[in-house]
Amino acid sequence: MNPKYILALDQGTTSSRAILFDKSGANIATSQKEFRQIYPQPGWVEHDPMEIWSSQRATMSEVVSKSNVSYRDVAAIGITNQRETTIVWERETGKPIYNAIVWQDRRTADFCAKLKREGKEELFTAKTGKRLDPYFSGTKVRWILDHVDGARDLAKQGKLAFGTVDSWLVWKLTEGKVHVTDATNACRTLLYNIHEGHWDDELLEILDIPKEILPEVRSCSEIYGETEYGTPIAGMAGDQHAALFGQACFEKGMAKNTYGTGCFMLMNTGTQAVASKNNLLTTIAWKIGDKTEYALEGSIFIAGALIQWLRDEMKIIASAPDCDKLAATVEDSGGLYIVPAFTGLGAPHWDPYARGATFGITRGTNRAHFCRAALEAIALQSADLISSMEKDSGLKLAELRVDGGATRSDLLLQIQADILGTKVIRPKNTETTALGAAYLAGLAVGFWESREDIAKNWQVDTSYERKASEESVTKLRKGWDKAVTRSLKWEDPNEAHEA
Ligand code: ADP
Repeated sequence: MNPKYILALDQGTTSSRAILFDKSGANIATSQKEFRQIYPQPGWVEHDPMEIWSSQRATMSEVVSKSNVSYRDVAAIGITNQRETTIVWERETGKPIYNAIVWQDRRTADFCAKLKREGKEELFTAKTGKRLDPYFSGTKVRWILDHVDGARDLAKQGKLAFGTVDSWLVWKLTEGKVHVTDATNACRTLLYNIHEGHWDDELLEILDIPKEILPEVRSCSEIYGETEYGTPIAGMAGDQHAALFGQACFEKGMAKNTYGTGCFMLMNTGTQAVASKNNLLTTIAWKIGDKTEYALEGSIFIAGALIQWLRDEMKIIASAPDCDKLAATVEDSGGLYIVPAFTGLGAPHWDPYARGATFGITRGTNRAHFCRAALEAIALQSADLISSMEKDSGLKLAELRVDGGATRSDLLLQIQADILGTKVIRPKNTETTALGAAYLAGLAVGFWESREDIAKNWQVDTSYERKASEESVTKLRKGWDKAVTRSLKWEDPNEAHEA
């Protein structure tokens, strides 16, 4: 009997989802459950690991039962997850010793700043491709070992396990038999040498993390274990890596941008790990078999969230699609710029002290200009990332594949194509994250034969090309650069504001 489906588990920051895919890559059924966000202090964000697991398990059962499929019809399970989120649990009981510390959590900012002052950032960046930022898992693990009574001793005795959410789910799905992670998740921990492909003793020592706590690092596409129903778990990758795979960006120079709350852009750089000179991150795209491929990554914190802000806080629009409608009533933004630095700026500026600003307001400025400027701001931020990527990689982007909720906006994608002068392509299936995890699992069990086989499933929905004049784009980008410059360091304690 040939199983007909692959089950993808997409464990995100606000919800857990399960999607059943068939061989053509079509979604057969989806189930989604939200879970609690816990904010113990300003700047802290936690999840209850047991809720992560129970919500994920519930979506699995639901998707299988509502589609009248039996686990015998499922060839394999693929997992993709919110990255960097950190969990430490007891090996014997499977009980977490602390809540999951979420990627957004800033509690280790001072410790990161201390390491920077000690001149350690270069070492971390050279080995891991990342910055010394609380975003990544390493300093979060250390925090748990420092703050839970007796934890470091137990860790040294091999009694505790650390994992990102992928490890936690595999541990639970295999009833504690398997403690693994994959290369993409490992590379977000600040503990993993991305060039040599192993946990790094020197970095572990600096962070005082005992090796006994770490999961075994495996490739993204292989059988790690099986569930209680005997279904193999055969694919694993962090969400943005899975999306790059789901977009079939298999060749060097291919890139995808996901427009959700924020934007995450990854460009495949092949087997070469390109060190960024333009403030991007170097990351493992995926490891399949013995081959590791790399990507450059840029992250923007506020993208679609700017549209939500226009809707919920400013009440300029009643719903997200209204933004397109209003913006389309004007030729341009009339010189208005919005810099959405609501939580500082990510790549390529990395300025936690920048704050949101609007420039160029005149008496004629109206709601439509705000909507248009908001869409432009999303596209301009993304264009800045692409400029950095092209400089770093020496590769000219041939096309940009896009996905995420905000790609419902045709005008956004047209503006993006106008600014880039590069083809912007929205595929038919925009569930690329879950699809990427499904593909990785399916490749491991022979459900799909090869990447070529998968690439055939990728189909264009709409393709956008430049319509605007080069001159108008140059003017727009110049104004944008000026606006961004003026929003930088707004809250910097060392910058005196004039009274
Ligand atoms: P996430 O996975 O980060 O939660 P999604 O991929 O679900 O995000 O996308 C949600 C975002 O998409 C929201 O911030 C929302 O404002 C934006 N969005 C949804 N529809 C539209 C639209 N028609 N035009 C512009 N933005 C939109």
